[in-house]
Amino acid sequence: MADKATTPREHPHLVDGQWVPARDGQWIDVESPRNREVIARVPRGGEKDVQDAVAAAGRAFPGWRDTAPRARGRLLQQIADTLEPEAERIARLISEENGNALRTQSRGEVTFAVDVFRYFGSVAGETKGETIPLGAKTLDYSRREPLGVVGAIVPWNAPVQLAVMKIASALAAGNTLVLKAAEDAPLAVLEIARACHAYLPPGVLNVLVGYGTEAGEALITHPDVRKLSFTGSTAVGRRVMGAAAERIVPVSLELGGKNPQIVYPDADEDWVAAGTVTGMRFVRQGQSCTAGSRLFVHRSIADSFVEKVVANLRTLTVGDPLDEASDIGAIVNRKQYDRVCGFIDEGLGHRGATVALGGRPPAEGPLSEGYFVEPTVFVGVDNEWRMAQEEIFGPVLCVIPWDDEDEVIRMANDTHYGLSAFVWTHDIGRALRAAHAIEAGWVQVNQGGGQVLGQSYGGYKQSGIGREFSLEGMIESFTQRKHVSVDISR
Ligand code: NAD
Repeated sequence: MADKATTPREHPHLVDGQWVPARDGQWIDVESPRNREVIARVPRGGEKDVQDAVAAAGRAFPGWRDTAPRARGRLLQQIADTLEPEAERIARLISEENGNALRTQSRGEVTFAVDVFRYFGSVAGETKGETIPLGAKTLDYSRREPLGVVGAIVPWNAPVQLAVMKIASALAAGNTLVLKAAEDAPLAVLEIARACHAYLPPGVLNVLVGYGTEAGEALITHPDVRKLSFTGSTAVGRRVMGAAAERIVPVSLELGGKNPQIVYPDADEDWVAAGTVTGMRFVRQGQSCTAGSRLFVHRSIADSFVEKVVANLRTLTVGDPLDEASDIGAIVNRKQYDRVCGFIDEGLGHRGATVALGGRPPAEGPLSEGYFVEPTVFVGVDNEWRMAQEEIFGPVLCVIPWDDEDEVIRMANDTHYGLSAFVWTHDIGRALRAAHAIEAGWVQVNQGGGQVLGQSYGGYKQSGIGREFSLEGMIESFTQRKHVSVDISR
């Protein structure tokens, strides 16, 4: 155990409007992937903490439900105003805890989070019902009512964006919330909770930290949680859905992806190469569910297109996430770093595949002090190989050649995932035919950016169920419909 002088700062979690340690006094060390130093300690929440938080959320629910929706929305807007001047501080925390580069990633993530509070704050009054025309003597109308206590769980890769998406939409709709932050990136989420705490009644938002197998399990199996909203891996999503099935509670799942990018023969251009690099989320070390990690390039342009991709990647700097010069930061933790290296080793061992860039990370020098992996491009990959089928969640791009349009669509769809996809061609008819044929919840044509508020974003197949990024998503995910039928003839 560390002595007092070296004990890193403790960040308690938020239960019933109080900042508290875990009930049994245990802590989790948060290690920074930029230099492997422990930068903070957070509560190792467990069953008792979840019970406290769910009970507090249950007590807070009637009052919050009955607060006028636009008044709830105004509070969310005030949270946005409070967060905005804190954005730089919170962005730096994200970069320290999860390794994302400050300039290219973390700043934008916090700006987006502020926008999320503004967006859901402004649409809080739009949870409208309908009237059914049953004649002059009957009034039949529907109401959109909140579900109650929502249990939400988020991963570490975009911790603030994903937490805020659940917080703002669930609360705007009148639910109360127990959110479990990821054990690898809890600090910035706790700062978001701090801004919320200044405006929300106690218990409306509870933010816990703890391991998935402890606090996470306690939350998904708690009998008083009326809805589960989970973002993370498909494996854990399956477990969450199983727990929801036991109690028949609705569940939203935003899960993994192994997303295709299709480059047509007319698209052998620098801007397309740059777009595919963005689509692969190299500046997030590839740690994105929407990363276009299978790059299908028409065989006739494969060599020259890969050259362009590599030239673009060579302009990007891997380094300390807090350094303004860094485009690409560090992999989140040792486990993920080892997993990514394992896939690189596997690629290097495949006969038929060649490495156009990158490879095993440096064993010496400044980059060896943290979990840094350089952008790695494997060429000549077969779509059936494990590295082309499993989500690596690292900066490893698989380039797969194609000859025939039907064949490439078949390969693009030959995966149990279906989250996002990218199509690159000047022929818009062809692009849209491909977009309609691809089994994915979100297809981009000639662009590779991130999610936009207002799009009902979510996955097909094993990439998820439900939508959360829009007003419609909020209504679908965080309200239930009630009909009231009245005989007004008496
Ligand atoms: P993960 O599934 O291991 O963990 C996610 C969260 O679930 C963490 O908070 C973890 O503590 C918790 N958890 C783990 N086991 C649990 C259990 N048994 N019960 C309850 N909670 C449990 O995922 P990760 O490695 O943190 O994140 C990466 C994954 O998330 C990738 O697969 C990525 O594609 C996915 N992801 C999806 C989206 C999306 O929008 N579809 C967005 C971001 C990340």
